[in-house]
Amino acid sequence: MNDLTLTHATGKPLPAPFHARHLIGGQFQDSADGAVSERLSPAHAVVVSTAAKGSQVEVDAAVEAARAALPGWAETTGKARAAILLRVADLIEQHAERMTLLECLETGKPIAQARGEVTGSADLWRYAASLARTQKGDSHNTLGPDMLGLVLKEPRGVVSVITPWNFPMWILSQKLPFALAAGCTCVVKPSELTPSTTAMLGELLVQAGLPAGVVNIVLGFGQPVGARMVSHPEVDMVTFTGSSAVGRAIAAEAGKSLKKVALELGGKNPQVIFPDADLESAADAVTFGIYFNAGECCNSGSRIIVHADIAEAFTARVVALSKQVAFGDPLDEATQVGAIVTPEHNAKIDGFVRAAEAQGARVALGGGPLVIPGLKGQFYAPTIVTHVTADMAIAREEVFGPVLSVLTFRTLEEAIALANDASYGLSAGVWSENVHTCLTFARRVQAGTIWTNTWMDGFPEVTFGGMKQSGLGREIGSYGLEEFLEVKSVAMRVGRTRAPWVKTI
Ligand code: NAD
Repeated sequence: MNDLTLTHATGKPLPAPFHARHLIGGQFQDSADGAVSERLSPAHAVVVSTAAKGSQVEVDAAVEAARAALPGWAETTGKARAAILLRVADLIEQHAERMTLLECLETGKPIAQARGEVTGSADLWRYAASLARTQKGDSHNTLGPDMLGLVLKEPRGVVSVITPWNFPMWILSQKLPFALAAGCTCVVKPSELTPSTTAMLGELLVQAGLPAGVVNIVLGFGQPVGARMVSHPEVDMVTFTGSSAVGRAIAAEAGKSLKKVALELGGKNPQVIFPDADLESAADAVTFGIYFNAGECCNSGSRIIVHADIAEAFTARVVALSKQVAFGDPLDEATQVGAIVTPEHNAKIDGFVRAAEAQGARVALGGGPLVIPGLKGQFYAPTIVTHVTADMAIAREEVFGPVLSVLTFRTLEEAIALANDASYGLSAGVWSENVHTCLTFARRVQAGTIWTNTWMDGFPEVTFGGMKQSGLGREIGSYGLEEFLEVKSVAMRVGRTRAPWVKTI
């Protein structure tokens, strides 16, 4: 097992593979049946972690612990909840390097970006702490002299939190501190591909003084662990980030017991480039938007829709920039794009490019797996595909790789129609110096986030979520807290002023 021969970019040898365990009712534990899974580093193809592989036994124990902890946590003051969330944020920062290394090794993302993700997550915990203290309901005092209406907000209860592999710490931190701020208790499942930082966070939650059972972590696969977290009758809500296919399956299962679901799903995000835009900034942002996280990103700007008059020159500019992007060993601080998550996924990316070519699209750059000398894992070359039409799979489906599709338009109406011509509606961008163009685009394009003259800026204060097949509900911002709150109306009559319904003699 301890076969790591890699060295850190600093020259230090890597630690032995991390072993991730479940956290149930305050106890770290392996699976009852002793089952374990292994994770190979996508870039180096060596085992970097092992994890307890859970079953229904662990999910049931975790839900029971969360249910038992609910009354106590739901009655905790906002001040006390905030104090714990703030301590967690401090602890994430103190242990950031340890988490960064495992995030980098398990996902294949560059270490500098893994570090940004881990330290940025601490900020989400701090922001959620502020909401824990400031959440409030409503009162209505114009209902009559003896009437008062109150709208109370209460924790939804036991929440199942299911996360994907591509931003394990960030996505967990978009959900968990908000659920805790609302007074919910949780059962968490990270992706089977990236269990370690979530398990490490469990250690930090215990250190921060979170009462046992408030957060439970069960490691393992979608079947049976994730599925049981959805179907369990004692779970009140499921918050999920992942593929639209799994999201639909979760919504269908949750519907059987009418559980609340919040779903953050895939995207096929367009950026429309008008000739009057700052084209240098646009080309730079398009390059960042397609290669960030090797394109394995829900917000990947994977299709650009460029005005026909500038399409050739703009594409040439993006091709030139693409050649300067540093693809390589994720452990190297200078690397900008790392490995692809699994060999199967690398083959799937290639399948999209080959199919587009067969339908008449042209590969202007890349278009195949990339070999990085000295690395045994899987990489995909920076790829730009032109002459793409809206009916091709490469323009409609989530490729989830460093593959940019280029489409063209002539009028604002045509650009809006092309932007909306996908089943997804996560994010969209417009590049123009004309405020009318930007505002019209922002109002008419169906996406949960619209970026104008920028791409992928995000802030804990500004909510995030998808339309159409990209999801249900919202995360972060004040809406991110509301998802975890149930609303209760109270009508109070003061004194005996209610007119009798039945007349008495
Ligand atoms: P995935 O859907 O394969 O898996 C996500 C999680 O669901 C994993 O923990 C998995 O074990 C679990 N799961 C699988 N089957 C399940 C089932 N039947 N019941 C319950 N849980 C189950 O997704 P992935 O490959 O890990 O992540 C990539 C996807 O996530 C992409 O589609 C991407 O766009 C999406 N994503 C969306 C956002 C967003 O905010 N909208 C952010 C990141 C990733």
